[in-house]
Amino acid sequence: MATSRAPLRFAEAVSATVSESAGSGFFFDYDGTLAPIMRDPGAVFPVAGAVARLQVLARLVSKVAIVSARPAAYLRDRFSGAPQLRLFGLYGMQTVEDGRVRTDAEAELWAPVMRRVAEEAARDLPREILIEDKALIVALHYRSAPALRGAVERWSSRKAAELGLREQYGRMVVELRPPVERDKGTVVAREIETLTRAWYFGDDLSDGRAFDALRGREERDPAFMGVRVAVANTETGDELARVADFTVASPEDTPALLDHVISAFPGRPPAVGAGSRHR
Ligand SMILES: [Mg+2]
Repeated sequence: MATSRAPLRFAEAVSATVSESAGSGFFFDYDGTLAPIMRDPGAVFPVAGAVARLQVLARLVSKVAIVSARPAAYLRDRFSGAPQLRLFGLYGMQTVEDGRVRTDAEAELWAPVMRRVAEEAARDLPREILIEDKALIVALHYRSAPALRGAVERWSSRKAAELGLREQYGRMVVELRPPVERDKGTVVAREIETLTRAWYFGDDLSDGRAFDALRGREERDPAFMGVRVAVANTETGDELARVADFTVASPEDTPALLDHVISAFPGRPPAVGAGSRHR
């Protein structure tokens, strides 16, 4: 994933975005990017100030979207105060349109199979494993028992082979999902078609596909600028940061980075503490 262009400077990325705001979009993963990672995934809410920044951004640029493995209804609840945001749940298998969840018809056909997977996981796996049944995705969280990772991955691989499912590895989690062509990369590739600048913020392995989608577009279209922002964490190590243009230390730092972007638009007040921590 080597890049041929010179390293992007933060100020350049911001000014290129401001000068073509009508062709700019911002895309965000949710868990670990706009929200902390927690042992109980249901207890997670956006970090302070995140939703407000996204609302402001949505008024300044063409498109602001959340692209997550969470169900769309979950995202709709968390971002109910910001109806301008586009929400892509279950890796794009679900969207929200006019407040209603729309599920991809091809993916929906797999609902009975995924229900069976959730039941079998509950039957087969040790009780320390948190089984999150997201209707079309079954997530097996081993955060409470990292030593069980191997057992979880073996079970998951066997199930994927037996039923023709896809696996997605993430931070202390393995997900099983239907074999339909939807991931963060396909969502972002489609959503940036009408844009000339796009930022993507992510923290996990599945976000690498969205980074790749930006890179692929840049290679075909030199006028397009993709900006990859990694949110650092010890669990995925350097994997995403290595291929990012910029890195922030934690989800709590994402709103501050957005302040630097927002404050560059004409008529916006300067960001507080405007020394750049972004490499
Ligand atoms: Mg994440």
